[in-house]
Amino acid sequence: MTVHIITHEDCIAHEGGPGHPERPDRLRTVDQLLGDTELSARIVRHEAPEARRDQLERLHPAAHIGRVRDLSLAGGGALDPDTSVNGKSWDAALRAVGAGTQAVHLAAQTGENVFAPVRPPGHHAEIGRAMGFCLFGNIALAAAEARAEGLAEEILIIDWDVHHGNGTQNLVENEPAIRFVSLHQWPLYPGTGRETERGVGNIWNVPRPGGRPPEEYVSALKTGIDAALEGFEPQMVLISAGYDAMLGDPLAGFTLEAEHYGDLLRHIRGQAPQGPIVAMLEGGYHLGNLRRGVQVTLEALDSPPDTPS
Ligand SMILES: [Zn+2]
Repeated sequence: MTVHIITHEDCIAHEGGPGHPERPDRLRTVDQLLGDTELSARIVRHEAPEARRDQLERLHPAAHIGRVRDLSLAGGGALDPDTSVNGKSWDAALRAVGAGTQAVHLAAQTGENVFAPVRPPGHHAEIGRAMGFCLFGNIALAAAEARAEGLAEEILIIDWDVHHGNGTQNLVENEPAIRFVSLHQWPLYPGTGRETERGVGNIWNVPRPGGRPPEEYVSALKTGIDAALEGFEPQMVLISAGYDAMLGDPLAGFTLEAEHYGDLLRHIRGQAPQGPIVAMLEGGYHLGNLRRGVQVTLEALDSPPDTPS
């Protein structure tokens, strides 16, 4: 098999301000990993296109899109207490969304898995507002592209970032053809993600306290995934792949190690074998963890799908 990588150098140029944890070195770290000889022979790289306006407008109102564009093109500034843009953020955001929308075409055409290491991340961006380092809903827009273009009718989105994917939930909670499962630390930012938040019956939230053994988190997410797949056979699986649930992340208190992502991916591929996987980078603020987590993810995406877990 092959793993497709889709990103763009503009994603490195976005900066949220001095000392911001969501920083360019995160993507540089992933880029260094991709250059390693062992991995580089097994990946195919693609340059992300800029998302088109109509692709953004599938889920975001023109006022929100214009606010992000205008602030960035004016040189930058703050959109919320955690979320600022610089003069390159508009280009970066278009490439991040474009990576996801192109990734679902690549996955559908080849049947192979895709990883999109992009910035800014997307899973906190709501319909009408940027928040939590996120400008647009990258993964929800990828799902919308896949459905609008007839690439997949039913889609499962799994969010293993340590924070609740409130933005993704906000963007898909009225769409029964998309199911969303989020494992997250609770209580923690952004404060949403209770089990009672069910959308139209298409949302499965798995909130857990910090500091528990990693197997508990992995098992809880597997249970959530299995519940979401009851009576549902997605033609594509999208993953909000944050790596801030790993032990030692400066922003959170989960305890996962890199190999747990391999375990999760083998489970996902076993339970939803009909669909290729598109994974998009979200958080992850410890650079060593990020490198190890992405490496295990790529190895698991590249392995034959019938590898027993
Ligand atoms: Zn996060």
